[in-house]
Amino acid sequence: MTSLEELPLRPELRGRSAYGAPQLTVAHQLNTNENPHPLPDGLLADLGTALAEASRGLNRYPDRNAVALRTDLATYLTRTSGEQVGVDQVWAANGSNEVLQQLLQAFAGAGRTALGFTPSYSMYPVYCTGTSTAWVEGHRRADFTLDVAAAVAQVREVRPDVVFVTSPNNPTGTAVDLDTIAALYDATEGMLVVDEAYTEFARAGTVSALSLLPGRPRLVVSRTMSKAFGMAGLRLGYLAADPAVVEAVQLVRLPYHLSSLTQAAARTALAHTDELLATVEAVKAQRDRIVAELPALGLTSVPSDANFVLFGHVADSAAAWQALLDRGVLVRDPGLPGWLRVTAGTPEETDAFLAALGEVAPTHRLGGSGRASSRAEP
Ligand SMILES: *Cc1c(COP(=O)(O)O)cnc(C)c1O
Repeated sequence: MTSLEELPLRPELRGRSAYGAPQLTVAHQLNTNENPHPLPDGLLADLGTALAEASRGLNRYPDRNAVALRTDLATYLTRTSGEQVGVDQVWAANGSNEVLQQLLQAFAGAGRTALGFTPSYSMYPVYCTGTSTAWVEGHRRADFTLDVAAAVAQVREVRPDVVFVTSPNNPTGTAVDLDTIAALYDATEGMLVVDEAYTEFARAGTVSALSLLPGRPRLVVSRTMSKAFGMAGLRLGYLAADPAVVEAVQLVRLPYHLSSLTQAAARTALAHTDELLATVEAVKAQRDRIVAELPALGLTSVPSDANFVLFGHVADSAAAWQALLDRGVLVRDPGLPGWLRVTAGTPEETDAFLAALGEVAPTHRLGGSGRASSRAEP
């Protein structure tokens, strides 16, 4: 077999391994923030019809501008945010991952810089590598909140071409207030991308950055159907911004990037928005239940506006992660010493997680009664 080293690979890719959370077959898969609720039967039936209909046209390329889908997405944003969002302000691609990559292709690249406030979504530096963009880690406080004055000062100093603000943040869970986002916008001459992948799960009173769009042409709000809509397998992400931003990403998108089947399936799912989002309140209730149960186990969490909880402190995150996996519960080790992230889903998943954690916590929590850094079993 040929080794990678023998290929004329770009030097900056040498020695790297492909990024990705483990896809393991375990009883309780709580590591990638999917929505575990089954899709409604009515949607499944309509998908069958819509995909069969769209299949008749598979000999033709899809609408490369996905106008009908973008119209439906604009309607969804307008209806749920109260902000008027037009079709010319919306762009869609294969997951928000592709949207965010297209933004870097258009606004960053060789000789340019992107900045995000870490710990944050681990894909941002990966898009930077792929687009030859320099990546700068912005700072947070020890409790993972953003210090707006420090963040503004850092943006003024680094002068990035793209700033990522993840709200609610992944892996920590907390939403960012609009004053902070507005201050960061004023501090940068580059693009400010607010990644709202989890916004539908935010606690009451959280306002989307969509309300900041008027008069801010360098602001982009990124959304996805992977989390609240429960359609991670569909691969559909989108952005809302000034129409000029949509023109910009059209300069770098591949022709016909969004298949006819994807466009048809996404439109069908959007027609079932209310049913799909009906599970959001149930997931939030499980999130709040996890948060409420942690102190009794001697653990704590970071305030969450998302469908996951970052919990700690454990003495050895890798050992605690393995001990939970040994009990059939797969959580995420985000590489933050002392912390692990668990997805909130069904009541049964919460039961399983809390039961496993109840066995694991005495051994693994900081200052626990057991041998803090040792494995729970061989
Ligand atoms: C899950 C997630 C996304 C969504 O990615 P898709 O490509 O739309 O599935 C985007 N940003 C963050 C911060 C996420 O956690």
